[in-house]
Amino acid sequence: MGRSHYFCAMQKDTLVFDLLRKELDRQRHGIELIASENFTSLQVIQAMGSVATNKYAEGYPGKRYYGGCEVIDEIETLAIERLKKVFNASWANVQPHSGAQANSAVFLACLKPGDKILGLDLSMGGHLTHGSPANISGKYYQALHYGVKKDTGIVDYDQLEQIALAEKPKMIICGASAYSRDWDYARIRAVADKIGALVMADIAHPAGLIAKGLLNDPFDHCHIVTSTTHKTLRGPRGGIIMLRHDFENPWGLKDPKGNTRTMSQLLDLAVFPGAQGGPLEHVIAAKAIAFGEILTDEFTAYGKNVINNAQAMAKAMVNRGYNLISNGTDNHLMLIDLRNKNLTGKKAQETLDKAHITLNKNAVPFDDKSPFVTSGIRIGVPAITSRGMNEAHMETVAGFIDKVLTKIDDEATIAGVKNDVNTFMKQFPLYPELG
Ligand SMILES: *Cc1c(COP(=O)(O)O)cnc(C)c1O
Repeated sequence: MGRSHYFCAMQKDTLVFDLLRKELDRQRHGIELIASENFTSLQVIQAMGSVATNKYAEGYPGKRYYGGCEVIDEIETLAIERLKKVFNASWANVQPHSGAQANSAVFLACLKPGDKILGLDLSMGGHLTHGSPANISGKYYQALHYGVKKDTGIVDYDQLEQIALAEKPKMIICGASAYSRDWDYARIRAVADKIGALVMADIAHPAGLIAKGLLNDPFDHCHIVTSTTHKTLRGPRGGIIMLRHDFENPWGLKDPKGNTRTMSQLLDLAVFPGAQGGPLEHVIAAKAIAFGEILTDEFTAYGKNVINNAQAMAKAMVNRGYNLISNGTDNHLMLIDLRNKNLTGKKAQETLDKAHITLNKNAVPFDDKSPFVTSGIRIGVPAITSRGMNEAHMETVAGFIDKVLTKIDDEATIAGVKNDVNTFMKQFPLYPELG
């Protein structure tokens, strides 16, 4: 029965599955401090590995270009409805394949090539998709940048305002990838209103904390909000776009047929058919599961633990003589300037990797080193908080990091810390169901 399918005769691809097993072991044994990473629930992973990957569903629920979408429609509708509840939004699109895709779609919906955009400089903690010359956002649009203040490490809102008033960008972008402080969204909106600009908040990093009311709410002040789903939201890799209030598009923007549309309609058209083809419905099923998890009280506790752990980690690092940009953190991450320790970010990252402590080198504001070397490292606690660590464990982890960094070329120290890390991580089981 069913033996006629040609793939039933094929052997399991042990080459790939052995590698996946090795990756699971790596995740289990190491300390994961990359601020943009997390560990999803097993059911999120199971949904991604499901038959929904077989389905083409170009279009939106109820308006598809293919037959057989009735079940897929239910899945995508569930994801949308749950996401709207998570952020108290009135409209959401769950199809962007990634955070970068979500941002591209917003630009496509709101801007014409050559229009000016204003975002946080990449070298000051911003993201590639906010106008870096290496990215489509910096090639198709005229990108302007604000930074942080040299003395405080806080966003320079005065500079943002000066540039906005002088250059009149069509869009101001807030949000960052390596910024440990909360945002003054009201201030940015006030500036935007003076020049009739749209404000887009890209909350890819702190979205899970915002969802639980633990940071300022961007939705009341920013016209459009984008995010990834795999960082603090702890879902599958992907992107989302949301509006709390839909609105008439500000510059008489039309859809490809010449009709005037509301912003939500323009955004839907920009995701599909504007920038993407068929949605990843297996990932959308996993997004629906993650959004359901975020709506629980357990996730509220998780968000609070993330912030408590970040503060405990910041304190533990400061106590060991490390320089934190802005001297602390409001969210899930911190940026450390290693220059007083005579270390580069590159050297620190590579050496900690050998001790099974994973983090990334990161430019610090006003860095004098290249982006491939950098003067800093970024530490995030979302992943280790998902493993079950609490504030007391942050002391231990900071101790491991400091031990390696203070004896940077000592192979015996590195090997010793690696063993201690592997033993330490045994108390935080990861996917025990996978054997
Ligand atoms: C991570 C991130 C993105 C991009 O997400 P991808 O899914 O990697 O494309 C966009 N914006 C910000 C601020 C981010 O931190």
